[in-house]
Amino acid sequence: MDIIHLLPDSVANQIAAGEVIQRPASCLKELVENSLDAGAKRIQVIVRDAGRTLLQVIDDGIGMSEMDARLAFERHATSKIREAQDLFSLRTMGFRGEALASICAVAQVEMTTRRAEDETGTLIEIHGSDVVRQEPCSCPVGTNIKVSNLFFNVPVRRKFLKTDQTELRNLLNEFYHIVLVYPKVAFTFVHNDEILLELPVGTEKQRIEAVFGNPKKNSYTSAFVDINTQTELVSIRGFVIKPENATRKAEQYFFVNGRYMRHPYFLKAVLTAYSGMLPADYQPSFFIYFDINPESIDVNIHPTKTEIKFADEQTIFQILMASVREALGKFTLAPQIDFDTSGNIDIPAQTNEPVSKPQIHVDTTYNPFHTRGTIYPDKPTKGWENLFAPDLLMTDQTPMDADSRPIWQYGGKYILMPTEEGLMFINQHRAHVAVLYAQFLEQLAQTQGAMQQLLFPEVLTLPQDELVLLGQLLPDLQAIGFDIEQLSPDSYSIQGVPAQLSTLSPLPVLQHILHQVREIGANTQNEWREQIALGLAESAAIPYGKTMTEPEMRDLVNRMMQLPNYRRTADGKTIVSLLTDDELNKRF
Ligand code: ADP
Ligand code: MG
Repeated sequence: MDIIHLLPDSVANQIAAGEVIQRPASCLKELVENSLDAGAKRIQVIVRDAGRTLLQVIDDGIGMSEMDARLAFERHATSKIREAQDLFSLRTMGFRGEALASICAVAQVEMTTRRAEDETGTLIEIHGSDVVRQEPCSCPVGTNIKVSNLFFNVPVRRKFLKTDQTELRNLLNEFYHIVLVYPKVAFTFVHNDEILLELPVGTEKQRIEAVFGNPKKNSYTSAFVDINTQTELVSIRGFVIKPENATRKAEQYFFVNGRYMRHPYFLKAVLTAYSGMLPADYQPSFFIYFDINPESIDVNIHPTKTEIKFADEQTIFQILMASVREALGKFTLAPQIDFDTSGNIDIPAQTNEPVSKPQIHVDTTYNPFHTRGTIYPDKPTKGWENLFAPDLLMTDQTPMDADSRPIWQYGGKYILMPTEEGLMFINQHRAHVAVLYAQFLEQLAQTQGAMQQLLFPEVLTLPQDELVLLGQLLPDLQAIGFDIEQLSPDSYSIQGVPAQLSTLSPLPVLQHILHQVREIGANTQNEWREQIALGLAESAAIPYGKTMTEPEMRDLVNRMMQLPNYRRTADGKTIVSLLTDDELNKRF
């Protein structure tokens, strides 16, 4: 029996419209989801030029009849829903019946497909919606679909595509979203004839390890604890990182009923559960899988289906937070905070706030790098910084020099210096970050970083998406003084570092930079240069707790005063605060 039906218009119209295929990654997602819907156990993805010239997906699923092979490319042709009613209890991934129609409208598609019960398969070739060939063929059971020259007939779209490296990263990210929920399906991902990922069948944990772990260590997932909570409303399982293993780089994944989702509100629940356990600007990694009655979610509010609405979000927020807290509780009897040498000692206070009042507000769209030079929204600050309003009192004065003034260090963290306007508090680490940042940016622009050879070269092994990123940054990293060479497909050897890093180990520095670039979503050379400069500056800057001599302090303050904006670091952190005489007098 042929199983594809054309949806009645009324149903079609109920379905959120939207551009289905914006870039190679969205095309890949649709194809792989179709293979999964077809019950495939083994899926191969073959990509050329980041999907620009070829995206091919080969599966061993149920295949299609001759009739269905043709119908599959009609708009709103789907075997997956018949009635509007079904939209509310959706269990398969694709449901709009418009992916293949959209893809064949903007590419050259060749498909072979065969069902187990048919002796011969069907080959069909479509160019920009025109069927140019359809004939019987011999092929294995399953479907093999080849999408060539995406957007060949839509130059605007083609121009809109980013560099191959960026598009490949997008492809891999999309691929991760899928493979992490289908550990029982084997996947391979090949790009330009190189196998980037080979994922055998396994458990969820093994799949996470296979995707993100270092194949030589096999220990990625040991940094995590399990969470597991079953309630009538929802089941929540997964893995959350032990606080002591958190870094600035984080993998954060939510899945619901076998589908990746973004959920800023639930992210807050997780962050709240970690509050007080992580040094400032560290992020928890997590892989959290929700199972919930499909009737209580609406997956149809967004055409790309990553934003999902839950009927009872507040309750799930509480359950999620409690579940993460409980899992972490086992590991925080003796809370430990590791301070890195870049010195982020903004120790979050241990809080015992009632569970019903999440305190963290994350603006996921906010990018400090796009508003630099304007007012940075103030984070709640602690200790000294909170005693007075940091910015209001600072006026744009001509730079003053520190040579003729008394100067002290306080608490291993602040430089104190009296000025005409009052007592100036300078955060030593951040002041140095700002000075070095300006230096590194300058050196990057002129390609003249000074390099220092390492006695013992170090080897950097990275997961696939970061390799891609590193490839992108390589010329700039070399310009600033890193001597890096590719050793094997997934490792680099580091033989030299920028002179300013002197004795610091280069690996965490590079990882920090990669993480920042990814976090900020830096896409242009300028943006990632800023991240390289900032990452290096944060790593090389004088740490908190370091005693400074008087000449060192004067030198630092003088160099800081010469910066065009010495009040804030490039990522908006307060460097300088002033306690005016007025302020001081009011205290007495
Ligand atoms: P949808 O997935 O929303 O139904 P698509 O345009 O993605 O819409 O696919 C249309 C139809 O083509 C599917 O409903 C399915 O019946 C068939 N199809 C697509 N890809 C495959 C595949 N890899 N194996 C078997 N059938 C497929
Ligand atoms: Mg589909």
